[in-house]
Amino acid sequence: MLRRATLFALALTMAAPVAAIEQTPPDVTVTGEITGGDHQTYREVPFDVPEGTERITAVLSYDKSNKTVVDMGVWDPARFRGWSGGSRDRFTIAPSDATPGYLPGALPAGRWRVMLGVPNARTDSRARYSVQIFFDRAAERRATAAIADPPLKPGPGWYRGDLHMHDAHSDGSCQSRGGRKVPCPLFRTVAAAAEAGLDFIAVTDHNTTAHFSGLRELQPYFDTMLLIPGIEVTTFGGHANIFGPTRFVDFRVGAPGGPEIRALQRDVVAAGAIMSINHPALPSGEQCMGCGWTWKDTDYGAVTAIEAINGTMTDGPFAGLGFWYARLNEGHRLTGIAASDNHNPDVAAGNPAPGPAPIGRPRTVVHASALSTPAILDGLRAGNVFLDIEGTDTRLLEVDATAKGQRATMGETLPGRRRTTVGAHIAGATGAFAELILNGQPTGERQLIRSDDARLDWALNAGQSCGWLAVNVRGSTGKLLLAGNPVYLACG
Ligand SMILES: [Zn+2]
Ligand SMILES: [Zn+2]
Repeated sequence: MLRRATLFALALTMAAPVAAIEQTPPDVTVTGEITGGDHQTYREVPFDVPEGTERITAVLSYDKSNKTVVDMGVWDPARFRGWSGGSRDRFTIAPSDATPGYLPGALPAGRWRVMLGVPNARTDSRARYSVQIFFDRAAERRATAAIADPPLKPGPGWYRGDLHMHDAHSDGSCQSRGGRKVPCPLFRTVAAAAEAGLDFIAVTDHNTTAHFSGLRELQPYFDTMLLIPGIEVTTFGGHANIFGPTRFVDFRVGAPGGPEIRALQRDVVAAGAIMSINHPALPSGEQCMGCGWTWKDTDYGAVTAIEAINGTMTDGPFAGLGFWYARLNEGHRLTGIAASDNHNPDVAAGNPAPGPAPIGRPRTVVHASALSTPAILDGLRAGNVFLDIEGTDTRLLEVDATAKGQRATMGETLPGRRRTTVGAHIAGATGAFAELILNGQPTGERQLIRSDDARLDWALNAGQSCGWLAVNVRGSTGKLLLAGNPVYLACG
């Protein structure tokens, strides 16, 4: 959020989503044999890159019996693009990012060469090898650009994360070893998130993808926390995070030669990302340029989420909860999320509000089928999500509604105009109150949460059951602790 200086300047680009690469048929497969005669030589494996390729991914496999060792690197038509030796079996290169050891940049069409080095092949040995090559193109993304692949955790569950933060690749800062305020290395930001015990983060530098290669470098080390590539698309009329983008998205909305907002939104979808409008209710002015969301022509059908809570702005006129509820009341289906928008990982976890928020407070808790980028993005789309304002490791808010034997969880739809029972399973909030929200307004039926693992319910009569409902949890002083996403009640 609070970009206090001129923001907009950086360029962005791509990365890619979808299935694990092992489940994807390659565009090109080259096979061959390494024999004793190849000992301490280089072999070139040529392949042709078509026009319009946005990412190249290659996977090497070979028979390692008999102590054969094969190194890997790659040349484009004009220059050397990287080398991983024998330490990796795959690499990916795009204009935005590349595997450590490889150079991101333009992908010229024409003849490329995977280079295989053979430091060892025994005299009489024969070893089959295969190089599988995958191309991403605008309309056809075959390879994955997820930073972590396969999932860090395979099973379904509630995953806790922070979807908004900045580092040295935009305006994040921290204290240097010498005690000065300096652009903060991405490593510090990611390490602070891991210390906070998060399951996932999105690093969302303004308009650039320059941090994507760094995320690729850091993911294997931070192997218990998913790193999702993100961009805070920073326009003069509002900021939106996009999660999982695969390529450049032109952020210059409204400027001469720039896109209209709907064209930007189409581009976000084409880039394989989802869009979340950030801190929508902030005022725009010289204090915070372009911070509030003012694009009247926004296609909310192409918006997945609203950042209902940004940093410490839980309540008050600048909080985003009211903006989110107003859009829901217009009939849009939007997942509410909460994020720190941290600009400095030195902000201590116990830092009291108001003031800058530490990484992980607030956090968004997503029910997802696994801990992977595609699964978390699907979870955000589905909307079985709650907002943990104080960023705890323990609080839980599960909500469902039933009517005539049909059941719906948050994000799902139930036929309305019938008697409906609302159930909430709330953990870690003893002494707080749960309130039922109907179409943005508290129904007045507050319930005291008497145990650490509480189950509460409410009843709605048929006349009330139209629109959307949600359950929120407030402390004894009225402070919002947990905010649920809507269960939709079809009025028809
Ligand atoms: Zn912002
Ligand atoms: Zn931000």
